[in-house]
Amino acid sequence: SDIGSQKERVVTEEEWLQKWEMGNIGFHKEQGHPLLQKYLDVLLNGRSALRIFFPLCGKAVEMKWLADMGHSVVGVEVSEQAVKEFFSEHSLPYCEEPVPEISGAKMFQSTSGNISLYCCNIYDLSSSIVGKFDGVWDRGALVAVNPCDRQRYASLMINLVEKNSSYLLVTVSYDPNKHKGPPFYVPESEIQSLFG
Ligand code: SAH
Repeated sequence: SDIGSQKERVVTEEEWLQKWEMGNIGFHKEQGHPLLQKYLDVLLNGRSALRIFFPLCGKAVEMKWLADMGHSVVGVEVSEQAVKEFFSEHSLPYCEEPVPEISGAKMFQSTSGNISLYCCNIYDLSSSIVGKFDGVWDRGALVAVNPCDRQRYASLMINLVEKNSSYLLVTVSYDPNKHKGPPFYVPESEIQSLFG
């Protein structure tokens, strides 16, 4: 119940890049997440051609899955390697361009135009750059955010969604004093206070 020693811990951008370089990416799943399949109806809510956001997207295969269903997918990921692996592993041609509003950031877009992945720090995004979204798939995202940045992350996410949007959030229930991760334990009470 107590997040104890995790509270002060930080995973730096450098450490994430290193995980990708070393292939230390146990969080990546080749199979689509069963909870997205299970709650797809909640995410879509009878709507089609949605704009769906993948915060801290890695190379999540669900992006391809939703794009193939006719939705438009936008992701953000700090590792360029992850972004490039996503496109190459799905044999998707893409183009690459700078993001004028964010210094050093690049946007990788599938040639078909329905998948756009921003390679930058998520905190550099805003709705004036990426627009607003009808749906969010947050798996391995809030739980990967450093505890000290949670409030900032939640405020950004609230800013990036349309009024009638659906936000699917996956967290993992465990005793944080017994297990080191997935990176951070987010208790239900905290989700309530972050998102209301
Ligand atoms: N959601 C993905 C990946 C989860 S792991 C999945 O389901 O597989 C978290 C990812 O977030 C890592 O790939 C890491 O490189 C990236 N990341 C961590 N902090 C970030 C930040 N501040 N901005 C953008 N990406 C970040």
